Amino acid sequence: MSISSERNVGDILIIDLTREKVVKREVSPETVKRYLGGRGFNSKALFDMIPGRIDPLSPENVLALGNGTFAGTALPMTSRLHISTLSPLSGILGDGNAGGEFSAMLKFAGYEQIIVTGRAQKPKYVFIEDDEVEIRDAEDLWGLTTGETVDWLRDEHGDEVSVAGIGPAGENLVRFATTMVDKYHSGARGSGAVWGSKNLKAIAVIGTKGVEPADPERFYEMAKEDIDYFNRNEFVKRIYSVIGTHYGLIQWYPSWKYFQVPLSAEELPIGLRPQDLAEYEVGRTQCFSCPLACKDVYYLPSTGEYGTASEFESIYALGSNNCVTDTEAILRMEHMADEYGMDVMTLGDTIALARLLHEKGILSREELGGVSLEWGDAEGQIELIEMTAYRRGFGNKLAEGYRNFAKLYGEEALAYCYDVKGVNRGWYEVDFINGIFTLSHATSTRGADHLRGRSWAYWENDKLMDIEAVRRMLEADLPDYRKDPVGALIYGERACTLADSLGRCKGSINSWLQAVPLVWKYPVFKGTAMLLTAFTGMEFTEKDIIDATDRIYLTEMAFNVKQGIKKKHYDVKFPPEFTATERAKAQVRRHWELVDEYLRRRGCDVETAYPARETLEELGIGYVADEIEGKEFPEWDGPVREVA
Ligand code: SF4
Repeated sequence: MSISSERNVGDILIIDLTREKVVKREVSPETVKRYLGGRGFNSKALFDMIPGRIDPLSPENVLALGNGTFAGTALPMTSRLHISTLSPLSGILGDGNAGGEFSAMLKFAGYEQIIVTGRAQKPKYVFIEDDEVEIRDAEDLWGLTTGETVDWLRDEHGDEVSVAGIGPAGENLVRFATTMVDKYHSGARGSGAVWGSKNLKAIAVIGTKGVEPADPERFYEMAKEDIDYFNRNEFVKRIYSVIGTHYGLIQWYPSWKYFQVPLSAEELPIGLRPQDLAEYEVGRTQCFSCPLACKDVYYLPSTGEYGTASEFESIYALGSNNCVTDTEAILRMEHMADEYGMDVMTLGDTIALARLLHEKGILSREELGGVSLEWGDAEGQIELIEMTAYRRGFGNKLAEGYRNFAKLYGEEALAYCYDVKGVNRGWYEVDFINGIFTLSHATSTRGADHLRGRSWAYWENDKLMDIEAVRRMLEADLPDYRKDPVGALIYGERACTLADSLGRCKGSINSWLQAVPLVWKYPVFKGTAMLLTAFTGMEFTEKDIIDATDRIYLTEMAFNVKQGIKKKHYDVKFPPEFTATERAKAQVRRHWELVDEYLRRRGCDVETAYPARETLEELGIGYVADEIEGKEFPEWDGPVREVA
């Protein structure tokens, strides 16, 4: 094996904030082969280090920041930072990844992953400059927004520094606070509150060492092919790089009034159309080594601020789902969420749920303490966002986040909470015919999610991008979702796990063709195997890749078993008005048939949803079975709280 920690795979930094100690540990070649990097490294660390059900905001929780394997290289879209923890929003695995420059910088400094444990006595930040790692006082930084934090650290350490950290929402333990990278790049599911609970404001990194593949000529030859593919792709040129993800507004039926009406392109109100957003655009920006530049930079005349990335999810969640159509107000809310460090989807969905509960009389006027929950009230929503970030008044309840918020108002409120394992589903259609969309939310190891498997098995975005490549993929060994939804979903989950472990962006409109390197040219995982071989100097086969993704996924399932997840938590929830219909009952029957088939094909016990020992041993992780087999864990009902 010719992997070298000095050349292409860095060390792991373990930062113990309680003792203010930093330890560096080498990564073995075997670990790279078995877990690839990024999400794979993080999920293994969480399984190994978190014993069972604990309060996610206690010092026992672990925060893992992992580079993808190819971070810092010229292979396009591969410098995402994966951030994983026990989520204070859901109480199960919570992870997400963010773009920007941090992941590349960390790699250039010589590190593959940062693991943070314990809790500092006072606010701290970590400064990394190649081999030097220091835990420093952050009392001057505490209270600053994410943008102010980056500016402060750049004044202190120079403009080249890259920063991951939190804003006021993370400090105030808002359960859907995010980790923000370089001001505008967000990793969701509540990791920001874990930083806050540890008194950790930011990590600033400067790296100067570079990365050298084992076979640079071969690696960069393939990387260039991949870059050229995106540079000549007409859809990238006309849509991704011009409009970005809010192209979805005319393709994905954004929901109106808390998921009540899906809006077609013709029904989009003035203010929510891509051309309305374009009026505020003053430039475009991108993450490290990305030729796509999917993110717009917008200017807000009313406040004189600049923001970035008006994505589909933020426009539907803060806009249409709350009946808000004032374009500038929506952009301002999006920018506020970035500056305070909050996830826009959970923020918007929680506010929309509050409006619905108020309309139905479940949430009384007295509860609100004078704030407005009228549909479409943009100014009131701006006030609510600020109150949430600082946990003021009614904002203190919204800060609990979606299902935890609904729980405050009892079963009647929970009936309108369309979550999976504590995470809001966001907009989705009821996919009656083949069930794959619903199934993919249920099987996601981080709760409801559209980026854990579904998109890759659904094809609609790939067809827009390159119909010929899709035909070739279908002719290879990819299951067709219409005939074999479970097979297609498992392939999709493997692709997402791979993308998150390599550090590859799953793309501005969610496409296989972006997420799996060279898939437009080679059978599904072959291009990745060739790239990994050239990069690490170790021989990778397609089977190695599939086994690694399954190892990671089943480790995540086992982690959630330890958090009390049972088979019943693979359910789906529909609006109460729909649940009683024959159509819904048939959909639910179909769903549970697919869940059973999914568990069988994943090698899990169909009754308990525990990964089976035999499957885990085949993947070389029998130790995972030792921790869960024959054990009963208290049933999950959201995050544990040390103090109720
Ligand atoms: S497609 Fe967009 S989000 Fe993804 S790496 Fe490129 S610029 Fe970043």
